[in-house]
Amino acid sequence: MTPNLPDSEDYAYPKVHNSTTDITNGHILGFSTRAIHVGQSPDPTTGAVIPPISLSTTFAQDGIGVHKGFEYSRSGNPTRQNFEQAIAALEKADYAIAFSSGSAVTTTIVTALAQGGHAIIVNDVYGGTYRYFTKVAATQGIRSTFLDLLDPQNIENAFQADTKLVWIETPTNPTLRLVDIHAVARITHQHNAILIVDNTFMSPYFQNPLDLGADIVAHSVTKYINGHSDVVMGVAATKNKFIYDKLAFFINAMGSVPSPFDAWLANRGLKTLALRMRQHENNAMAIARALEGHDSVEEVIYPGLESHPQHALAMKQMKGFGGMISFRIKGGFQEAETFLKNTKLFTLAESLGGVESLAEHPARMTHASLSEESRLAVGVTDNLIRLSIGIEDVEDLLVDVVNALEKAVPRV
Ligand SMILES: *Cc1c(COP(=O)(O)O)cnc(C)c1O
Repeated sequence: MTPNLPDSEDYAYPKVHNSTTDITNGHILGFSTRAIHVGQSPDPTTGAVIPPISLSTTFAQDGIGVHKGFEYSRSGNPTRQNFEQAIAALEKADYAIAFSSGSAVTTTIVTALAQGGHAIIVNDVYGGTYRYFTKVAATQGIRSTFLDLLDPQNIENAFQADTKLVWIETPTNPTLRLVDIHAVARITHQHNAILIVDNTFMSPYFQNPLDLGADIVAHSVTKYINGHSDVVMGVAATKNKFIYDKLAFFINAMGSVPSPFDAWLANRGLKTLALRMRQHENNAMAIARALEGHDSVEEVIYPGLESHPQHALAMKQMKGFGGMISFRIKGGFQEAETFLKNTKLFTLAESLGGVESLAEHPARMTHASLSEESRLAVGVTDNLIRLSIGIEDVEDLLVDVVNALEKAVPRV
């Protein structure tokens, strides 16, 4: 696919190639082996099994312009590059670029690839992405159309002559609606536009959008990839050299790079991603079933339940169902608030994807900036509660949820 964009500037960002086949002579390594080994060769000078954090901002040159691939740390950093190589290997990409936050991934992609044009975005996209398109990109001449994509054919009529990109998220937040990545990719490419999938909720372990036809996969590393709620970072990966060169030029020019220390922590988190995701999912499935069977619950939304309206699509395009659950408690705001005040292990907090369980009220917290009308249009009612299921012992989480439910909706 050749996107209809201007030529990219020639810029020597250190190339990040997927090295999986290099180290195995053609045998494709499993997910955890890649997560643990790619970009993590022992340090050649000391033998340190864990590569040291490279904090230096500048790199010695043997002669003018003669160096080992690094000149200045904004333009390229060894610790960051190690992380990028691992992500490229896990998303089955050829290239990956790490950013200072998930939001910096968005701003850099939109600035680099949608200049002076039009973008189509799924209507219940992450709040910060919505804010960026409507309040920032709009002031830079980028026009946006927000669309319900439950039916991917809806997108067909939204293309304009200068539509440059389509931005989707699946499952969406907080109502966990799915978008058919393969179907949207096919239509997007017929219109010579680029498809970006924000894969934060699934992580590379449960969904690989590039395999389904997406051109760029984006992550807020802050969530599952780092997984320990102690780093804000982002990453984008692609197989397309044109897109890569463009993003590499823009990240260096815009300066939206992560610190080496954060890249190192995120790489450490990444090594246990498969273990964590499996546990998030096992726990989430048990809690979703318990909620579904409970009298005080009106509706449970979890793609792994047969009752999810798009369960069949989930089985087709995802390799697992993840750790996010939303549910509607019987009653309204009062009952939701009482539930959230009474959990002992689930902490009342925004964000998601960490080892610890969190609970929040989308209408008053993560989605408070939406108008009441748009909130209700995407199903964010006052009795909706979002859970980020951690990897604690599931028996404890179940007791916590059931206790809080009994306090919130007393039996008559
Ligand atoms: C958190 C999040 C972002 C933004 O990432 P930051 O690291 O907070 O800037 C983008 N998309 C999704 C789906 C998110 O959950």
